[in-house]
Amino acid sequence: MTTQTSHQKVAILGGGISGLVSAYRLLQQGVGATILEASDALGGLGGTFEYKGAVMEQFYHVMLNSDAPLLALLEELDLASSIHWKETGMGFQYEDAFYPFNTPLDLLRFGALTVPERIRTAVGAAYITKFVKDGAALDGVTAADWLTKIFGVSVFQKLWLPLLTSKFGDRYPTVPAYWFWSRLTREKGGAKEVKGYVEGGYRAIAEALAEKITAMGGTILLNTAVEGLQETASGVRVNANGGWEDFSAAVSTLPMPLLQRIARGTLQTAVPQANLTYQGVVNVVLLLKQRLQPYYWNAIVKDGFPFQGLVETTQVVPLEQTNGRHLVYLMNYCHKDSNEFHRGDHDWEFQAKKALKALYPEFDQSLVEEIKVFRAPYVEPVWPVNYLAARPACRIGQGNVYLATTAQAYPRVNAWNTMVEIASETVAAILADLAQRPAVAPAASELVNA
Ligand SMILES: Cc1cc2nc3c(=O)[nH]c(=O)nc-3n(C[C@H](O)[C@H](O)[C@H](O)COP(=O)(O)OP(=O)(O)OC[C@H]3O[C@@H](n4cnc5c(N)ncnc54)[C@H](O)[C@@H]3O)c2cc1C
Repeated sequence: MTTQTSHQKVAILGGGISGLVSAYRLLQQGVGATILEASDALGGLGGTFEYKGAVMEQFYHVMLNSDAPLLALLEELDLASSIHWKETGMGFQYEDAFYPFNTPLDLLRFGALTVPERIRTAVGAAYITKFVKDGAALDGVTAADWLTKIFGVSVFQKLWLPLLTSKFGDRYPTVPAYWFWSRLTREKGGAKEVKGYVEGGYRAIAEALAEKITAMGGTILLNTAVEGLQETASGVRVNANGGWEDFSAAVSTLPMPLLQRIARGTLQTAVPQANLTYQGVVNVVLLLKQRLQPYYWNAIVKDGFPFQGLVETTQVVPLEQTNGRHLVYLMNYCHKDSNEFHRGDHDWEFQAKKALKALYPEFDQSLVEEIKVFRAPYVEPVWPVNYLAARPACRIGQGNVYLATTAQAYPRVNAWNTMVEIASETVAAILADLAQRPAVAPAASELVNA
């Protein structure tokens, strides 16, 4: 392990965006940081795969022009000038018909609803985005009840219920209206839908952060799963690679059930939301020789269809980045214990090809060059009502263990922008606390990179 610049040393559990930003911000203030990452790569859910020399995302990732904390970070990392912004749109596949779904006129032509339903939808959407200013009042109301009240039963059943279940499956009834309001106002708040892609993808952000971290004397340990975390009188002890090491504090970026699994001693009863349910995802990525559809995102409501949506990221990602291949992601958000999550890759590949044929009968299957299947067990918590009061604070236990994790994102959208903000807030709290504490003399390192 390299020498730290400070006598204070913080263990960062996880090398996704939350862990990287936590380490970067600590080191900027002269506090040592060691990232312990279980996998063989940084980036977490923003991870990538390589295909014939091109680097592509396992899960589709873009930023919005309203993502202020993320854009400020990219400015700092000298990456802002390499963002490609693109106006994008959304389509809606409703049973066997395809509808553009971007303008008020599109809504008025949306044949899946009757004319009175379309008018009610337009009025309801305008009410939510323009007049509901205080989303927090919606924390105790379920999205299902709130949307039914605003739009009526039939619009809810036809339009909003499929969108809610596509994200949260049959666990949707607990999700608060506050989450829904926040998402709707983020994505449709601006006049135009504009999405951004930084050259090299989210991997470029992770690499730039890793470079800074190393340059400032921080340590990054890959293939290093943390197996135990316990509080001590003056800090924490971390178990990984068969050894224990003392740190002044720890930041966990892990999903709460995983933190609970490694918590030892008094921390075992101090992990908040230890049983929080998360939704996972299966992404089937198709590398195509030709563009598929007119829009970035196509929501799919089709009886018995195995995917809830289709995202064509090369609507935003320049084709030079993918060596000319068009990237289409078919997604199924599901729980990690579900049959869908455990269905084999071959089966998903078959389902994906069948799905393309069903959606675009004229599409020639020989234009599919490659198919990859990726799964993530913990994408986003299934938020329960009244979560504002239950949302984990940034300090837990006796005060030496900190959180920068997606369980704190609510009501904000689960995205890199939010995690950059949360990690920066957590670091501010650590710095304030460390300033009050006597330093721990770092013990000789027992952790080694595998
Ligand atoms: C399909 C999909 C689409 C998305 N689209 C977008 C988008 O368009 N824009 C956007 O900004 N965001 C998007 N997101 C959300 C975004 O990926 C997440 O908000 C973000 O990556 C969360 O970062 P994190 O660092 O908090 O967690 P993670 O990325 O989950 O990182 C946690 C890290 O901890 C590691 N870890 C786990 N257990 C241990 C252990 N015991 N010891 C050490 N390490 C451990 C994991 O390997 C992982 O690297 C999307 C996510 C998905 C799945």
